[in-house]
Amino acid sequence: MDFLFTMPEKRVLFGSGVFSRLKDEIERLGCAAPLVLSTPSMRSGEKIGSALSPLKYGLFDGARMHVPAESVEEALAFMEGRSFDCLVAVGGGSSIGLAKALALRSGLPIIAVPTTYAGSEMTPIWGITEGGVKTTGRDDRALPKVVLYDPELYASLPASVAGVSAMNALAHCVEALYAENANPVSDLFAEEGIRLIVDNLTSSLTGPYKSEAIECVLRGAWMGGMVLAMTTMGLHHKLCHTLGGSFDLPHAETHAIVLPHVLAFNGEYAEAAMRKIARGFGTSSPKDAAGRAYEMLSGIGAKNALKDLGMRVEDLEKAADLATRNKYYNPRPFTAAELGPLLENAFWGRCPES
Ligand code: NAD
Repeated sequence: MDFLFTMPEKRVLFGSGVFSRLKDEIERLGCAAPLVLSTPSMRSGEKIGSALSPLKYGLFDGARMHVPAESVEEALAFMEGRSFDCLVAVGGGSSIGLAKALALRSGLPIIAVPTTYAGSEMTPIWGITEGGVKTTGRDDRALPKVVLYDPELYASLPASVAGVSAMNALAHCVEALYAENANPVSDLFAEEGIRLIVDNLTSSLTGPYKSEAIECVLRGAWMGGMVLAMTTMGLHHKLCHTLGGSFDLPHAETHAIVLPHVLAFNGEYAEAAMRKIARGFGTSSPKDAAGRAYEMLSGIGAKNALKDLGMRVEDLEKAADLATRNKYYNPRPFTAAELGPLLENAFWGRCPES
């Protein structure tokens, strides 16, 4: 295996209660005037206030999915005339995505406190949506300098958000294993990430071992974020970006539904990677891994059909066609016609092998 390996400088604190170290981490960066970014439903002023006390901070809670350019402009207007010296993103990929867009414009460092499993906090990948078109890129200014993973913050995450968000992290690990630019470190993280998420996701949503299981899923999601940063993603991400970008389907839910179908589609290809993926799922067969990913959907109470996310049957052909433009590398080459049955199965919520 030939490979290129780089590891950008970054500080990760992981553990119950690390949120209370937020102020220390801000000061460690030489900062004292944070702008906190979140989504409206995440607004939890009291908790943030006590973690930052006695620092004076600003709170902008207008982050939205896929970082609309208008929300970036609103946040920049909020910053106008105030001298913030760092950005603190508290929330999921939407809050962290807004922080990234602002970091590109202001040069301020980001401290991320993730509360979903989406993994954006570990990557330099940014995205901004304007006129219905999402532009993405990689830029080191968008990479958070510090990440605080506090499993306690996940206890209140609704199961309907947590389950599909963890499937999103699972997809990062799966696609990293068959990426063209995989390396020995990404392979290790990705296989372990799959195992941690598959073994613990259901119990992380409910039941007596919820806290321990959340910690394991979060460790897996961190690994998912690491490998998302290190490798390029394949067909699964291409399909999800197409379905989200052109048909407005929700990010994490779409990832969850599509994953079993892409696993089945790629099953016979990239043999060594598929063996590792299957092992992560606790089986020796890629076919069984696809089946297990499909069963996980009902295990976590998630929808299993694109039609239930608002997709229209008449748009399937267009989706297949769009997914073959600017193709991402995938171990199994594909045409629009070959994607047809995959999308049909995902649309109707059929088991991928049927
Ligand atoms: P999100 O950030 O929109 O969060 C989903 C919902 O959960 C929101 O309503 C949010 O308010 C709520 N929420 C989050 N944490 C909560 C908590 N602890 N308690 C209660 N509610 C909570 O969704 P996401 O799936 O985390 O992120 C999706 C976005 O991130 C997409 O735009 C996607 O493109 C982007 N993303 C980017 C990268 C990257 O590397 N750049 C990686 C993954 C995802």
